[in-house]
Amino acid sequence: MRPLVAGNWKMNGLAASLKELNALKAQLEAGPAAAEVLVCPPFTLIAQAAWHVKGAIALGGQDCHAKPSGAHTGDIAAEMLKDAGATYVIVGHSERRHSHGETDAAVAAKAEAAWRAGLTAVICIGETEDQRCAGDAHDVCRYQIDGSVPAAATWANTVLAYEPVWAIGTGRTPTSDEIAQMHAHIRQLLVGRLGAGARELRILYGGSVKPDNARDILHLPEVNGALVGGASLKSDDFLRIIRAV
Ligand code: PEP
Repeated sequence: MRPLVAGNWKMNGLAASLKELNALKAQLEAGPAAAEVLVCPPFTLIAQAAWHVKGAIALGGQDCHAKPSGAHTGDIAAEMLKDAGATYVIVGHSERRHSHGETDAAVAAKAEAAWRAGLTAVICIGETEDQRCAGDAHDVCRYQIDGSVPAAATWANTVLAYEPVWAIGTGRTPTSDEIAQMHAHIRQLLVGRLGAGARELRILYGGSVKPDNARDILHLPEVNGALVGGASLKSDDFLRIIRAV
């Protein structure tokens, strides 16, 4: 299984930011990475980014609509992402679950839309701080997997990202033991739900991964890569995380 290091630019980036991708591409050409590298810029930059990276870095969307086309003002179909040059799409990021009221069922429909368009779905799950403090983190992830990961998910069409909500953008992370325990739990749930093939499905950790903590996190058992927000915006920081694999 080749680890995946994915960058989520969120609502950041203008055309000038493509210089960061050019710099990353040059560094990866000079010294190939052990990990597969994915960048998810805002929708507006995907087509230009595809032209810049010419396949050296995979590109993804940060969300998609479940339908392939229609009267959905402001939404983007998975087919449009594919057409623009994406091969992945993030679905169910906590910022969409919490600020846009996305349910597990909506996330599952988006994952199926991704597959329909020929994209790999990066399905995000993770507990809030209150849920962790109440001792419910493992149950929350179980319910989210049951509701958001369609039964047809395979290692080839899906990546699971465990992102504790309280760790996103806060500089706080769970302990190594907590991450390892949760990833083992998720692996068990995925194998129970999808069968033995799910042993090959990549499980990413996300939430305040930085150059300084990446090595410790990325070498934990059942951690098959990272989903990186803030530290993916600067090519030097992102590259240090990629090199930590
Ligand atoms: C994210 O947005 O998915 C994320 C993990 O952000 P950050 O790395 O900034 O915590």
